[in-house]
Amino acid sequence: MGKVAILTRNPPAELGDIQKAEAYQIALLGGATGDQRVKEQHGWWNETEQRAEFLSTTFEPDTPLPFEEALKVYYDQIGLRASQGFMHVRYYSFIENRYVYEDLRKATGTCEYKSGSGGACGKPTNKVFPFGSRSYWFCDEHLKPGAEQVTGRPFIEKK
Ligand SMILES: [Zn+2]
Repeated sequence: MGKVAILTRNPPAELGDIQKAEAYQIALLGGATGDQRVKEQHGWWNETEQRAEFLSTTFEPDTPLPFEEALKVYYDQIGLRASQGFMHVRYYSFIENRYVYEDLRKATGTCEYKSGSGGACGKPTNKVFPFGSRSYWFCDEHLKPGAEQVTGRPFIEKK
């Protein structure tokens, strides 16, 4: 299924008057499980048409990676571009069939969710969840009841 993120320097509200905004598209390409490829392209984002037009591929490692490693590379690349000012990200939601906006200026940590192999998710997030003696960062995808969290134990929502 994969993941796709579009990063621009402008929030959606600013793009109404701009025909096209400089953008990076960062994609995780592969099936629901198994090896994945990471690909980044640099080009232009059209907010009105919700469509990207690309000029060139700027990052594409040769070898496919195991899912968790590829996910880390994917979010590291998003973090790199965010640090260069591309703080406005639109993640494509395959469930909602549209791009969902997130303001990375509000992200103050990265998701600490760990998979079975021990690698952390790494997605920029502003959500913390208290667990035991400290708080952990979790992205929306991983901050949910029933998911295995940092401790490896079942997640229990505090009420
Ligand atoms: Zn996560």
